[in-house]
Amino acid sequence: MPEKPIICLAPGDGIGPEIMSACLSIFEAAGVQEHLEFREAEMGEKVFKRGDSRGITDEAMEALERSGILYKGPMGTPIGGGGKSINVTLRKTFGAFANLRHFRTLPGVDTVYSRAGMNVDLYVVRENIEDTYGGIEHRLTNDVVECKRLISAPGCEQVHTFAFRMAQQLGIRLVHCAHKANIMKMTDGLFLERFRTLAEDYPDIETADVIIDALCMNLVLRPNQYHMVVLTNLQGDIVSDLAAGLVGGLGFAPSANIGDQISIFEAVHGTAPDIAGKGIANPTSLLLSGLIMLRHLGMAKQAAVIENALLHTLESGVHTGDVKGETAPVGTREFAEAIAKNLGKAPSSIPAKPIPDSDRPVSYRAPERPQTNRLMRTFVQTEGLVCGADMYIDTRLPPLELAQRLQAICADTPFTLTLISNRGTQVWPTGSIYTEIVDYFRVRFELRDKNQIGRFGQLPTITLLRKVAEKFEITDFQPLKMYDGQPGYSLAQGQ
Ligand code: NAD
Repeated sequence: MPEKPIICLAPGDGIGPEIMSACLSIFEAAGVQEHLEFREAEMGEKVFKRGDSRGITDEAMEALERSGILYKGPMGTPIGGGGKSINVTLRKTFGAFANLRHFRTLPGVDTVYSRAGMNVDLYVVRENIEDTYGGIEHRLTNDVVECKRLISAPGCEQVHTFAFRMAQQLGIRLVHCAHKANIMKMTDGLFLERFRTLAEDYPDIETADVIIDALCMNLVLRPNQYHMVVLTNLQGDIVSDLAAGLVGGLGFAPSANIGDQISIFEAVHGTAPDIAGKGIANPTSLLLSGLIMLRHLGMAKQAAVIENALLHTLESGVHTGDVKGETAPVGTREFAEAIAKNLGKAPSSIPAKPIPDSDRPVSYRAPERPQTNRLMRTFVQTEGLVCGADMYIDTRLPPLELAQRLQAICADTPFTLTLISNRGTQVWPTGSIYTEIVDYFRVRFELRDKNQIGRFGQLPTITLLRKVAEKFEITDFQPLKMYDGQPGYSLAQGQ
């Protein structure tokens, strides 16, 4: 007999243990545990409290690396101190690069859209690793802090490929890429460009792009015009919660974090400390996340049976207290018992989930352990040719005086000063006296003779940096490069 997949189980904090126990009791009634083995792994608040700022024990890390699957309840993030969100740490450490969430109208869940007869059925695919979630932040000067937003071509490709494959699997014919490439031309521009390029490999799927702010308005006005939207991390985070609001709140939104080796299935809501221990929390989000996990493991039949039982239960008016309804609410345990009793039944007001003939449970396969971290690459051939440098300077000098001093510094070098900007807006050589400034300037030096581009590497820019550093406080340095004849840097606003 093939070995059963082992699932690392982390019930979580607050309402976590209550809703996890409800979900496991439904799985037990449906016979899921005949095919899967759940083993608890220690992570969350109790680990933070013992002084481990990772929030996960070494044993749990190893268990997860062996298992490849984590089913988790919500976990609290310590506010202040060094502890980072365990939820974000897990996704990033184990390369769970795509976050998949499904938002849809559920029977018995009253929303403005259900009342208007508008059916919502939307998948949001969010890139999970990059963007401002790198958490790369610095205090640069007295008055300025920064967060570095990194977007990589391989990172974009991973999430777009996942979205297209998932759309094919789910029979979704239209996929949107949401972005802000009109402003962030390089970062969101790359995300959009990779989407368009990869779309060519999926001719059966129609694609379109939408600017993120327009998407938000359209989702509120006519959510049924979207079926799947793929987004960068922070924009995806915000749109996911907006979408949860369309279908009745976070209690109904399942979430899967999919990686090549390790995947994490979790509820999207938090630990709900205000109702923890009262036995009234809604386990639907965690249950639906568990159903994505079952499908991921080839158990589509059991997942469909449980899903139909859940839909039938909600439709028949059985609900927890967070759901508005005609009938009195029940507690977490009673809700789970009702679902278990309804196994085999299906909803009548909406189409039931088709039940496949059989399950095809995957047999246990430990994730491959690489020798070293995998280097992902997309643009293998491109070479960057140094053509100048941006330096970031902590000063309170007025732009004109700053320019005069810098011109004196670079006079006997191959570089000339071409731009000074403040908070991204050009203030020299042209600009407006009305542009308000702070104590953090970008100064741009470019090669005086363009024929010199590519003649030498970055060393002359470092020599220039040393000269500038003798007179000014440097906060950051960025060589400027041309890639395939195109500048690998943005222009300033007003340039
Ligand atoms: P929250 O989601 O815990 O609670 C927001 C509101 O929604 C509360 O009124 C709560 O009672 C209600 N609610 C949430 N889930 C519910 C459920 N299943 N049934 C019924 N009502 C529910 O958000 P918060 O208060 O901002 O965060 C509390 C803690 O959870 C924080 O420490 C936060 O960091 C953490 N958190 C964890 C995750 C995760 O583990 N993925 C996600 C979000 C927040």
